Amino acid sequence: MNLSFLGINGSIQSKESGNVSFIAAKSSHFILFETSGALCSDIRKAGFDPLNLDAVIISHCHIDHIYAFPSLIHNLWLLGRKRALPVFANPDAIEKAKMLFNLFALPQKRDMFAVSFNAIESEQFAAGEFHIKPFAVEHCFPTTGFSEASGAFTYFADCNVSWSIPAFCNKTKVLIHEAGGTADEEKALNEKGHSSARQAALRAKQINASKLCLVHLPFDVDPCAMLAEAAYQFSDVTIPELLEKIEIGLENG
Ligand SMILES: [Zn+2]
Ligand SMILES: [Zn+2]
Repeated sequence: MNLSFLGINGSIQSKESGNVSFIAAKSSHFILFETSGALCSDIRKAGFDPLNLDAVIISHCHIDHIYAFPSLIHNLWLLGRKRALPVFANPDAIEKAKMLFNLFALPQKRDMFAVSFNAIESEQFAAGEFHIKPFAVEHCFPTTGFSEASGAFTYFADCNVSWSIPAFCNKTKVLIHEAGGTADEEKALNEKGHSSARQAALRAKQINASKLCLVHLPFDVDPCAMLAEAAYQFSDVTIPELLEKIEIGLENG
């Protein structure tokens, strides 16, 4: 099983990266978390065929997480996709995805493949080769975190630290956590529904994660400062390199 990050920035894109989105794969097939950036291009750069996309998962309906959704569907249609594509998100984000789908008259395209919009709350669901447990996190809008059911990875999307982490996130191998800045700005970050790098590291320690990936980064804060304050709390922390596979070892193979 592996993860590939297509983007790691928060709302504002930088020279180095677009907004956060990432792939989880067990084979040549994969699922996509968040829809931002030049997705088909980035999926190819990560070594995957866009047509092998099995499911799309969106954490919430803020623009940096959802804007590329209609373009992704349009690209897949132009590439000749036939099989259905399931989309999973909380009811707010599903509504926004449907609006974008309809805004560009995508359902009316000739031979458009079926896009199934699944509004999820807390029930585990199957997405391609993965089983995913969703849970609510605390942000300024209804937002969902996701944990891979075997414990390989957990994604805390945009969130502060004032919510209780479900027990099933404990001992996740990789915690993907947003970090909107350093501890100097913690109060303001928390008020806006975000976390500092220090707080992300404390959460990783709290749930006994093996590894922490900081994402949803600000474009104007030194990443070294964020890494340093996180590393002070939690040893195995990284800012993922774009498009590089992060392998997640599983106990039984
Ligand atoms: Zn965001
Ligand atoms: Zn947000």
